[in-house]
Order: sequence, then C-alpha cells, then structure tokens
Amino acid sequence: MIENGKELNILIIEDSEEEVILLLNELKKSGFNVKWKRVENSKETKKAITEDNWDIILSDYKMPQFNASDALDIIKDLGLDIPFIVVSGSIGEENAVKIMKDGAHDFVSKNTPKRLIHSIERELEESVRRREKREVESLIKTQHDLSIALSAKMNLNEVLKICLETAIKISNMDSGAIYLINEKSGYLELIYYLGLSKKFIKKVTRFEKDTPFMNLIIPGKAIYTEFNELSKKISNLDQSEELQAISIIPIVFEGSVIGNLNISSHSFNIVPDFSQNALESITALIGGAIVRSKIEDELKKSEERYRELLDEINEGFFITDNKGVLVFANKALANILGYDTPGQIIGRNSADFIVPQKKEKYKKIFSGLIRGIKNANELEVQIFNQKKKIMCYLEIRTIPLFSEGKIIGMRGVTNDITERKLAEKEKEILNEELILKNKELEQLLYISSHDLRTPLVNIHGFCKEIEYTVENLMNTLNGMNIQEDIKEKISFVTINEIPGYLNYIYKSIKKMDQLIKGILKISRLGRVELKIKKIDMNSMITDILQTLDYQIKSRNITVKVEKLPYCNGDYLQINQVFSNLIDNAIKYFDVKKDPFIKINCCEEDDKYIYCIEDNGIGISKENLGKIFEIFHRINPENHNGEGLGLNIVSKILSMHKGKITVESVKGKGSKFYVNLPKL
Ligand code: ADP
Repeated sequence: MIENGKELNILIIEDSEEEVILLLNELKKSGFNVKWKRVENSKETKKAITEDNWDIILSDYKMPQFNASDALDIIKDLGLDIPFIVVSGSIGEENAVKIMKDGAHDFVSKNTPKRLIHSIERELEESVRRREKREVESLIKTQHDLSIALSAKMNLNEVLKICLETAIKISNMDSGAIYLINEKSGYLELIYYLGLSKKFIKKVTRFEKDTPFMNLIIPGKAIYTEFNELSKKISNLDQSEELQAISIIPIVFEGSVIGNLNISSHSFNIVPDFSQNALESITALIGGAIVRSKIEDELKKSEERYRELLDEINEGFFITDNKGVLVFANKALANILGYDTPGQIIGRNSADFIVPQKKEKYKKIFSGLIRGIKNANELEVQIFNQKKKIMCYLEIRTIPLFSEGKIIGMRGVTNDITERKLAEKEKEILNEELILKNKELEQLLYISSHDLRTPLVNIHGFCKEIEYTVENLMNTLNGMNIQEDIKEKISFVTINEIPGYLNYIYKSIKKMDQLIKGILKISRLGRVELKIKKIDMNSMITDILQTLDYQIKSRNITVKVEKLPYCNGDYLQINQVFSNLIDNAIKYFDVKKDPFIKINCCEEDDKYIYCIEDNGIGISKENLGKIFEIFHRINPENHNGEGLGLNIVSKILSMHKGKITVESVKGKGSKFYVNLPKL
C-alpha cells in the first residue's frame, strides 16, 4: 500500500492531454504526490528517460507518431529497468499478449482506474525487489571476483589496490583510502588511496594513538556520515577536498581492529544504504587478505635472506619436488653445473644434469629416496659442466622433505669431490699398471733364473770334464819318457794351476747358484695364492722353536714367548716370516752377553703388532734402511746367509696387507715388529 503523499516520478507517454489529466486525478485520489512529464514521440521519450530517474512509465498503446512497443525498445537499448504499464482502450487479447512479450510489465484498460492504481503499486514494489535482487547478485559476483583475485599470489600493494577498487565500485562512491595500524608504533598509517588529491592526502597520512580519529575506529563499528558531520567530530580535518560523504569501516582480523577502509564521495552527501551493506561485507574479506599478504611478504623477505645466505656458501644447495624437479637452487650449484644463475636451472629435472651413462642409476636411487627406502643418504653423481667442458664428481647428502607424513621432495647439499675422485682414479690406474709390471717382472725373473741354471750346470759339468782330462793327461805323462824339468813344469800346471782356477770357478758357480735360487724363491712368492686361515700363533711359534732347538741350545739363548693373539693369514707364509725373524735373532746373537729372545704382541684398533726382540749385535743406523733390500747383507763374511730373509718377510707381509718395521741399536739389540691387520 502506498503511503499518503508518497512522491512518484511518472513519465507519461500519451498524445492526449485530457487523458493525462484524468490519469493524474486518479493518482492524486489514491494519495500519490505526483511529479510528471508527458511525451508523445520517440525523441522526447529518449530525452526524458536519459535525463531523469523515473519511478514508473505509463504509456498509451498507440499514438499517431509513436507506440508503446517503440518506447519499450528505447528502454531496452538504454539497459534500464523501469516499471512500464500500458494504459489504453481495448486493444484485443492478441496485442495485449504481444506488448507484454515486448517487455511491458502490465496492461491496464483506461476504464479501470482502480486496477491501474493497484498495478502501479504492485509494479513499484516489484521494481524495488528486482533492483535489490540485481544488487545482491552484483554484490555476490563482486565478492566472488574479489575472493578469486585475493586467492592469487599478490604482494600487499596489489591486495590493497584490488580491495580499494572493489570497495569503490561496489559502493558507487568515487574515492577511498586504506589505513593500517602500525604494530610497532600503534599509529594508524595511510597505506593506499584512490581518487583523492595529493594535497589532501598529505594531511591525512597518519593518526596518532588516542586522537579523535583513532578513537572512532577502535570500537570496530562502521561509520557512515556526511563529511561535514565528521569534521565536526574531528577538529582540523581538512575540508579542501570538498568530500560530501564518507564511510569509515574498521578492518577486523580475528577480533582485533587492524586498520580501516574509508570510502568517500565528492558528489553524494550520504552513503546509500546499499553501499553500507556492500562495504561491510567485503571489508571482512579484506582483513584476512591483508594479514595473509603481510605474512607472505614477510615470508618472501625471509626467503630472500635465506637465499642470500645460501648464495654465499660454496657448496651447492637445492630442493626438488618428488619428481626430482629443482624448485630451489643456490648460486654455487648453478656454477657447478656450468650456469650463471639459479634461475637457469630451477624448473629443470635434476636428472638432466647427470652424465648420460649414469642417468638411469641416478633416477633409480632418487625414486628410492622418495619412496623412503632410506631417510638420509649420500650419493655420488657425475655431471658435465657445459661451460668449463669438464666432468665433475659430486657427493650429495640428501634429506627428504615431509608433508603430512609423506615425502614430497628432497633437500640436498653437494660437495665437489672431483679432485679426490681423479686422484683415486689415477692411483687405481697406477696400481693396476704396477701390478701388471710386477707380474711381468716376476715372470721375467722366473724365466731368466730358470734359464740361467742350464748354462751354470753346463759350466759345472765341463769343469768336471777338465778335471778328468787333467787327470788322464797326468797318467799319460807319467807313463811317458820325458825330461824331468819338462815333467815338473807340466805337473805344476796340472796339479796347482788348473785345480786352483777350477776351484775359483766352482766357488763362483756356487755363489751364482745361490743367487739364482734366491731370485727363484722371491719370484715364486708372487705366484703363490694365499690361503687365509685363523692361526694359533703360540702353537706356530712353539713348532718353529722346536726346529731351531739345536741352534738355541748350543748358543745358550733364553727364549720367552708371551701369550699371543690368533691372527688371520696363510699358515705357511706367516710361518716363513716368523722363522726368518727368529732365525736372524739366533744367528746375530752377541757372544759377549747372555743372549735372549722375547716374543710378544700388542693390539691396536685394526691390527696386531707382534714383536721379536733380541739383545744381539744390533744394526747401525745407516744400515737400518737397507736390510729389507734383496741380497743386502751387512757383514757377509761373519755369518752364513743369502740376504733374502727380510726381503721375503716384507713381501709376504705386504701380500697380507701388513708390514714389517724395525728398531735397532748397534751393540744393543733389535726389535722387529710384524704388523698384521685384523681381518
Ligand atoms: P741374511 O740373514 O741372510 O743375511 P736377511 O735378509 O735375513 O739376510 O738379513 C739382512 C741383514 O740384516 C743381515 O745380513 C744382518 O746383517 C741384518 N740382520 C737381520 N736380522 C738381524 C738381527 N736380529 N740382528 C742384527 N742384524 C740383523
């Protein structure tokens, strides 16, 4: 029901003034306070519709120059929604249906004024409802658009800009500003503004605590007011901007006011109701978005600090997703891979950088890490630095990245081990070469020493032949009648000279034979395959001492053997080592002392060190370094020997990955240490 005196702005499309008067009388009777205008052609209608805001349009169905259908087209073209009622004489049912289809809201006969009033009232209400519906739909759409925009990654400034633009658009106002409370100072500070002059803004950039403006927003209630009213409450508020209306909506996050959104207008002097609702509903979104983007900005800053720090280190650092794609890399890693900046490698799969022949292996290991087969791991990879055109070896320590109990990626630090790897490779090659050379040498020694024995045997045989020949010669000479002085001369040659020379040859043959046997012995060592077993050392030493019993007793040597740990080795070879050392300790005893031999052992982390100690003649400093050399003997005339014993000892121990060392003082005695690894 229309309130009495309700203002109604009506556009009447009618060629007959009389009809208009009749119509107005009816409206007045029904309590409308009517403002109206009559038009009767297209031009006038268009002009009137664009220049004024009409509550309703009443139109005749057909006029000489114009008709209701054309008027409806004009409204449609302008995109307006104004209640349109066709008031006419009888037009027939068909035409009535057509005009409704063209967009008229109702058709009323001129002869039923009551029905007309009823129709106007209904259409006015409908129009308000339609407008509200449109506004709600537009608000929902704007809110939806805003939340989509805010969910995208934006920095704080972008967030503020989009929020303010939306607030201004949704409220039909023309300007605004966003203030946030500075957490440190507590001041309300202008962060962003639109549609306001710089001059005005300069005066409203900051509000201190406990100032009237601050006190307005802190309670968290929105204020909608004429600008004049606000300046009454806040003294010295600048009026130069000539703002008419202002709304101040606190921005609240988790119950606390964190700032405010001001929307203002240079033209309206009040903030329309609709704008108020719209503003309040989007300000709720703004609070969350501002806090989120502030946190994101902070995170970004701390991420930058973190990145700067990581760029300082020499080790490569990276993060991959669960497919191995680099999502983060520092500068060092980029350089190691032959690039200038991390940006050039981020986004690429880490497997792309591995040399082709190792790529599949890397992928397998990586997928194992992602499946959690191992929590932390060290892996070695080979990459090719495109820039330096060199192969690099990297040791990578990885740690999985978890999210909700699942491995979502990998974090890793690389260590350039190229130098170490190349050195190892070189050593391996040299070792292989050395082993090969040693083998060749042993082979050569074996063959040559073997072959040398044949001529030696021949020389020995022919010497014997000479002996027989000389003997035969002597017998023949004795039976012959030769002058005595000639006989004496020949006898001197056959009895003294030839046997004397032959004796020299025999001694040399013997020496040569010994040397060849020694060489054969040494060369055979390298050809023997070791049979490693656990050895009861005490029982082995007892056996050795038994075989040397005569020498020990005849020299009156005291032998003391402590409890020895078992060792692992080839029994025959280790027996040879200790036999040689004990034999030397006996052989090089000192006649001026009460000789003793002590055998004991001490244990270190990874090895046993057996010691054979004597108080014999000892070894001078200058000879200490040479005694392990093949055929080296110190005083060969004083003792029997081949000068091979210690060389054999040292060879056997190195085959067991052990070694021999010696401490000795001439005249005091010697300690030989046998080092054997615990296997
Ligand atoms: P050999 O005993 O046949 O001469 P080795 O290789 O066993 O050959 O020893 C080399 C040299 O080391 C010996 O000639 C000797 O001078 C010295 N030597 C070895 N063991 C001892 C020891 N226990 N005390 C003093 N000198 C030693």
